[in-house]
Amino acid sequence: MNVINDITRIQVGTYAQILKGGGVVAFPTETVYGLGASAVNPAAVLRIFELKGRPADNPLIVHVSTYAMLVEFAAEIPAKSRILMQKFWPGPLTLVFEKRKEVLDMITGGLSSVAIRMPDHEMALALLDASGPLVAPSANVSGRPSPTKAEHVHDDFGNSVPVLDGGDCIVGLESTVLDVRSEPFRILRPGSITAQMIKDKTGLVVVEADIMPSEDMQPLSPGMKYTHYAPDTPIRWMTSEEMSGNIDEAVLYLILNSSGLTKEMKNVIDFKDDMNRLGKELYDWFRRSDKTAYNEVAIQPLDVSEKNDLAKALNNRISKAIKK
Ligand code: AMP
Ligand code: MG
Repeated sequence: MNVINDITRIQVGTYAQILKGGGVVAFPTETVYGLGASAVNPAAVLRIFELKGRPADNPLIVHVSTYAMLVEFAAEIPAKSRILMQKFWPGPLTLVFEKRKEVLDMITGGLSSVAIRMPDHEMALALLDASGPLVAPSANVSGRPSPTKAEHVHDDFGNSVPVLDGGDCIVGLESTVLDVRSEPFRILRPGSITAQMIKDKTGLVVVEADIMPSEDMQPLSPGMKYTHYAPDTPIRWMTSEEMSGNIDEAVLYLILNSSGLTKEMKNVIDFKDDMNRLGKELYDWFRRSDKTAYNEVAIQPLDVSEKNDLAKALNNRISKAIKK
């Protein structure tokens, strides 16, 4: 939890005024920094698409701090989705509901559904309380890695977007997106909240969208079709030769456990079996790779068989960063 001091409180008040006036500000959440704009102001929402260079068919997540805000956007709130909100909100779980007809088409990319979440960050919640509901895609230029530090937002937008600085994001990966309009609920984008965690905490069995039959007619998360999260430096998986110690000094290695290597090297970052730390730091290493002289970034392939870990979300983000 982040403790809000008086100076931050004043800044939150000022930023809420900017948002209420139709402006755009960036703010921290537990996942990544969001580029916020009022979810009821069409001109402000349009500005988000323009600033990011975001395709118009990639819908935005509405961020709320209260259930009262939620019902302004969701037309139907299935009983079982309430259990999820009780257990995981505020937190990195976005729920896709049937939308109310008043919800701006620009937000939903023309879909009949709307994605909503309550972020687990004291500054974000204070800002939302003061400004009202916000659309808040990741605060990066489209195609760039999501920002996990205030300076990342500054690197992409310079002085054109004011940033509320909440330090480093705790999770570092975008939220899990779960469609709760029909059962079984479906994960449209993997994140730090996994199917196993949902089962353990609520007893609900949810499925991964990618194991659904292709003739299924319901739209998947439109954002999944875009290449995302990529730095300019080529990203690839480590080879088995590299895993057994054949290391190239011109490559930056992100590795979960370097015990197979004979000596410590400065271009080998060892996450010491801490996948959460890899999740938290991944985009920062992506961004740093563009500022250093390494030719490539090579990442140790991750074992997805382990229960209850971040491997699926990490594999999803890393494979999207690998240029075909
Ligand atoms: P970002 O804000 O950059 O984290 O991206 C938001 C993600 O949520 C994208 O992958 C969108 O496709 C997804 N999303 C937003 N609204 C919906 C919706 N109504 N149905 C399905 N996916 C959605
Ligand atoms: Mg994004």
